[in-house]
Amino acid sequence: MKAKEKPKFNTWQNSFWMLALAWREKEKKVIFLGILSAILTVSLNLTELYVVPVILDTVETRAPLGRLALIIAGFAAALMAIRALSTYITPLEAYGRLTTRFAVFDALNIKASSTSYPNIHDDNFEKLGKKSQSTINHDHAAAQAILYTLRQLVTNVLGFAVYVALMTAIHPLLLLLIFLTTGGAFLLNRKCSEYLHEHREEDQAHNRRLWYLFQKMQDPADAKDIRLFGLQPWMESLYDQLLEAYYLFAGKVQMRLFLAKVGEIVLTFLRNGAAYAVLIYMVLQGRIGVPEFLLSFTAVAGFAAWITGILENVSEVRRYSIELCAVREYLSYPELFKFEEGAALVPEPERLYELKLENVSFRYPGADHDVLKNVNFTLHPGEKVAVVGLNGAGKTTLVKLLCGFLDPTEGRVLLDGRDIREYNRRDYYKLFTAVFQDFSLLAVSIAANVAQSEENIDMARVRDCIDRAGLTAKIESLPEGYDTKLLRSVHFDAVELSGGETQRLMLARALYRNAPVIVLDEPTAALDPIAESEMYGKYHEMTAGRSSVYISHRLASTRFCDRILYIEDAGIAEEGTHEELLARGGRYAALFEVQSRYYREGGMDDEK
Ligand code: ADP
Repeated sequence: MKAKEKPKFNTWQNSFWMLALAWREKEKKVIFLGILSAILTVSLNLTELYVVPVILDTVETRAPLGRLALIIAGFAAALMAIRALSTYITPLEAYGRLTTRFAVFDALNIKASSTSYPNIHDDNFEKLGKKSQSTINHDHAAAQAILYTLRQLVTNVLGFAVYVALMTAIHPLLLLLIFLTTGGAFLLNRKCSEYLHEHREEDQAHNRRLWYLFQKMQDPADAKDIRLFGLQPWMESLYDQLLEAYYLFAGKVQMRLFLAKVGEIVLTFLRNGAAYAVLIYMVLQGRIGVPEFLLSFTAVAGFAAWITGILENVSEVRRYSIELCAVREYLSYPELFKFEEGAALVPEPERLYELKLENVSFRYPGADHDVLKNVNFTLHPGEKVAVVGLNGAGKTTLVKLLCGFLDPTEGRVLLDGRDIREYNRRDYYKLFTAVFQDFSLLAVSIAANVAQSEENIDMARVRDCIDRAGLTAKIESLPEGYDTKLLRSVHFDAVELSGGETQRLMLARALYRNAPVIVLDEPTAALDPIAESEMYGKYHEMTAGRSSVYISHRLASTRFCDRILYIEDAGIAEEGTHEELLARGGRYAALFEVQSRYYREGGMDDEK
């Protein structure tokens, strides 16, 4: 069996971390109001505890009626005041807990969107991210519930302390008995919860199967098949079998719950019986009167409740703490890149830079071979380089190394001769603008998507970039033009652009950003052949004044570049202009021949 991993942060650390977060996030009220609320709860309990015995005592001692009325009024006023104050602070405190949960949410968002890029593809980081999500996704999730439970714990500890003082008059053996019976009942209940927890997956599996069948029988998509193939009796008998198995499982669970309940009742009976015996004995001995008897007996039950509360709260806080460990580990996940601690880099306007891969090798974590091995390549200032090669050759990886999304396993990436690892990586990204293969649209206006901001949008520039990307006619045909919102999943009145239109929009976005290097990773994949050739024609105009890296698996699509790198076998197999590569008659020339024949004659013959 795999040994259980020790949590990286203990219960104290996590509880303190949550309270410190509430404090920092200007939600100090969670702490102050929590303490106040605990005091109020215990005060209410004590007041209620004393009402009857005090009144009884007053009646017994034949006090004047006026005094009795005063006492009753006093109790009524105290109870009302405490309840009113509790009612007033409850929502304030709850709001504080909610905003603290959102502070955790915010911290997770910031980490997710700013962590070193390789972490995004790290399974462990991803797993922690998923686990963290379940601590913030509702009111009862750990990041909010732990604050409530901590407050309950303070209440129960306070109540316990007050009751210990109150019950010193009672026999110490009775106190011990209360401890033992209450502890015993708690352990029985915990055994049940543990059983449920251990069999959680079995329970879920039963439910999943039952739901699957239930949904299948209701699903319009399956309706024809169920009727045509006469599946109904089969499904019905399957349902019966599943239900039988589930009842068998549920029966075992119920039996445990029942036995625990019986145990709890027996223990409570023991406790109350002993308390009655001791207290009655004390009354008979004349050591206490009836009011004290009543007070003490009620206090015995109350005392047991505080103890149960403490035990339950402690185990709950521990459970939440284990869940919160994922959040803590996620937030403190090591950063591979330098950010603020790196050297600052402010790209100078109009300046072009030299980028160099020096003896670069790269292997993805867990892989058994290098995607790139000992690659040397310089992107000279203002140069237009194409990177071509078959699918999976390593073109995107090469560009990711150049852009600083990945660091080489061996070798260096140099910016004007200086290792890019020395720079603040966020600053380094300012050197680039790009169209990547995956489209990333934001649920804002078209203009804001191009400008990547909703403030200070240079509309003339937006129009110009949209025009250069060949999207003007489409945008201007929309009733709201550049203000049209994108993404129907967020805005009901949004438009959905086609794949090709979205790619053009991504191109406009890349053109809008002022950066000395432009990277275009298969930027025509979603375009039709006419749009594609139109784009090739405008390539120089589009990339004027910048260095550019153009990735494609279409060999001939890169003739307009100054230099072509052909990637194969984990390295730059050939390089030169299109004509030079053809003249050389190597791998590039051979593959170009295959590709162009496919286009000339139709691919079917080649594939045979
Ligand atoms: P290309 O852009 O030339 O199609 P890539 O650079 O995307 O090729 O991928 C090169 C190789 O690296 C492929 O074999 C691919 O499966 C592998 N690869 C790409 N990304 C990852 C990753 N995140 N983890 C592991 N392997 C990867």
